[in-house]
Amino acid sequence: MVREAVAPFSRLRGEQIRDYLRSMTKLAAFVGRLEGEMSIAAVLAPTSIRAFLRNQPAGVRDEEPYLWRLARAHGTVPMDESVHHQVGRHDLKAPYTTEEIEALLLAAHSQPTELRQLNVLAIVVLGAGAGLVRESSRDVCASDVHRHEDGVFVRARGRCAKVLPAFEAELEELVRRRPKGRLLGTAQSRFITAQAHQWLDDRRGVPRLSVDRLRASYLIDLMRRGHTLVEVMAWSGLKTTDTLWRLASHLPVPSTCPRGHP
Ligand SMILES: [Zn+2]
Repeated sequence: MVREAVAPFSRLRGEQIRDYLRSMTKLAAFVGRLEGEMSIAAVLAPTSIRAFLRNQPAGVRDEEPYLWRLARAHGTVPMDESVHHQVGRHDLKAPYTTEEIEALLLAAHSQPTELRQLNVLAIVVLGAGAGLVRESSRDVCASDVHRHEDGVFVRARGRCAKVLPAFEAELEELVRRRPKGRLLGTAQSRFITAQAHQWLDDRRGVPRLSVDRLRASYLIDLMRRGHTLVEVMAWSGLKTTDTLWRLASHLPVPSTCPRGHP
């Protein structure tokens, strides 16, 4: 069942597919312990995934992005599932939640034309996956995507932006489907974002597209993953720590000392 569930990602390389295998194995074991139904649809149902994530001890590897991708690949995340209630409408620069990002990716993949799919995908993947928005994303091409020892990076405006592992597969797909020219497409970049707004606006359950929120999601994910301040600033091109301080309120606060002190 695990192999079958991961099959839609079989094009990925060893290390990347292992993330999906591990996530799916853990989720299946969790549902199995609860004596739940062991079909793909039941195991990857949003209720199962949420229950599993709630039961994960702090500090273990975050399986969330892989699980929502698997769910999306098998169509177990309903299109009309509303994620609007999670949008902090008062804070237009707040990071998106993982579910909101998944809703945006799902909306990108379900656009009616190839051009629309790739334009929306490029905005979301470059923004939330590499922190590249506005001018920094404008001229990025497939040839700017490359590998360092520790993962995938995108060259943009004199820096190399680390790609969050959870976005590597989406970026790979984008590069494969748009191997020539700018990943964002050929129209003027302001126009591309405005168009994408329109294409997504009438979709239920899809949060409003905001490049500021995409970039905030990238920054917060780097911090959550424990990267150093120097790394975060180098990859994101930030010159001061002001933005990071503002975002710090969105970071989880460790509630207990790992050594058990009160
Ligand atoms: Zn590089």
